[in-house]
Amino acid sequence: MKKDDLIKLINKLHPSEYSTESKVLKKHCIDWRGEYEGKSQLIIFPKSVKKISEILNFCQKKAIAVVPQGGNTGLVGGAVPRKRGNEIIINLSNLNKIRDIDLIGNSVTVEGGCILDIIKNKLEKYDLEFPLSMGSRGSCQIGGNIATNAGGLNVIKYGTIRQNILGIEAVLPDGRIYSSLKNVRKNNTGLDLKHLLIGSEGTLGIITAATVQLFPLPKERTVLWASFKNFSKVLNFYKYINNKFKDLITSFEFMNKESIEVLEKHECKVVNLKKNQCYCLVEFSNFNKINDFNNFIFAKIDFNDLDTDDLILSKSDNENKKLWNYRESIPLAERKEDFIIPHDISIPLTNISEFVKRTTKSIKKYLNGSKIINFGHLGDNNLHFNVLIREQQNLSRKSIRNSINKIVFDNVKIFGGAISAEHGIGQLRKDELKRNKEVFELNKMRDIKKIFDPQNILNPGKVF
Ligand SMILES: Cc1cc2nc3c(=O)[nH]c(=O)nc-3n(C[C@H](O)[C@H](O)[C@H](O)COP(=O)(O)OP(=O)(O)OC[C@H]3O[C@@H](n4cnc5c(N)ncnc54)[C@H](O)[C@@H]3O)c2cc1C
Repeated sequence: MKKDDLIKLINKLHPSEYSTESKVLKKHCIDWRGEYEGKSQLIIFPKSVKKISEILNFCQKKAIAVVPQGGNTGLVGGAVPRKRGNEIIINLSNLNKIRDIDLIGNSVTVEGGCILDIIKNKLEKYDLEFPLSMGSRGSCQIGGNIATNAGGLNVIKYGTIRQNILGIEAVLPDGRIYSSLKNVRKNNTGLDLKHLLIGSEGTLGIITAATVQLFPLPKERTVLWASFKNFSKVLNFYKYINNKFKDLITSFEFMNKESIEVLEKHECKVVNLKKNQCYCLVEFSNFNKINDFNNFIFAKIDFNDLDTDDLILSKSDNENKKLWNYRESIPLAERKEDFIIPHDISIPLTNISEFVKRTTKSIKKYLNGSKIINFGHLGDNNLHFNVLIREQQNLSRKSIRNSINKIVFDNVKIFGGAISAEHGIGQLRKDELKRNKEVFELNKMRDIKKIFDPQNILNPGKVF
């Protein structure tokens, strides 16, 4: 960016709305995993939608590239500038008001920089549930959640965030404010632009607010922990539990032995639970004031039908938290390993067991000693298939990464899955996207990008 333009841009801002300090910039230029570190000369924390509009209008005229940033918890390097250092960062954390809670229509209108946990806690006071939850909820922002079409722990019940967005407000790359904050569930008026912005990873517009539908807050929750000798038994269990409890299930999570091992090595010991090959955590929610909910759940399970070695139902909120903590601490434990190759994939449940078997075998044949850490939101076909490398056998990290990615993504294709289930494309999956999407579909995506952003100023080098 020309020095002259930088000064002009800064002159439009209040001193509390920006920073050029290297310490501040460094923090915002590195992603959560520490895999992507870029450079930038300026970070802006705008306090109004109008200010974002003025900034983007100026940036488009001067061809200044911009990275929209929320809580920076994304796992694909989408929210940080690239190494070249030409982009400025627009961080949404100052745009954080809850604009409206509609207690008749059951919806909330929040600004893009609101932190997910803060919204959830606020709504609990009204006995309302915000239909998104995930491990990063203490830092991620609603704008980032929408831009990544976040999934999380409750997709089995409420769907991804896309299914719950009623309206969006966004600033487009030329500074125009697109406002469609409608609070209606039916809106059949042609092509729906908000669905292009959802999952666009900051490449089409900056999401400044959204109206989201809400659900009744469960009266209580209880967590079941079960362990199995193999993956096929897990799938039988899933089918059984799903048939029995349907709408009461709010999460269905899977963890393999290796994910528990890495958890125990770096984060915490798993106490009072038997060791096994596979583990499931199922959360049930009591929406209908069912008396003695734990007993109700327990009484409906016929142990003769199940091939589990260990089945425990939590008896208190503390026990719920303890069991959830095991599942949610796995990504934190993995982060402490030196060399992990992550994959956030989805596979049809009917193929998942064979996929895991075949892919694991091929990886072990390529690099014996590597460990497969599998965990994830199994109820939504989502598996984190992360490969922990212990011995490199004189191979470079780059060549190991390429070979392992090829094994995993070739099998994802064969077994009818998707190369990204919920984390998105960002910088990490750009090459795989090219290999895995139809050329026609990719070209149409590029056409849409050009319509919204002909100068390519919004998050260049990401997704496309
Ligand atoms: C411990 C942990 C657990 C996680 N669990 C899950 C999970 O279960 N499910 C899941 O889906 N994800 C999960 N994630 C990934 C991440 O939290 C989500 O992708 C989240 O939605 C990102 O929100 P954010 O505010 O941090 O966005 P950022 O990381 O800041 O940005 C993500 C992308 O969105 C763009 N963006 C951000 N804000 C805006 C905006 N206002 N307008 C336009 N574009 C914007 C950025 O440019 C970037 O491309 C997890 C991450 C961690 C660290």
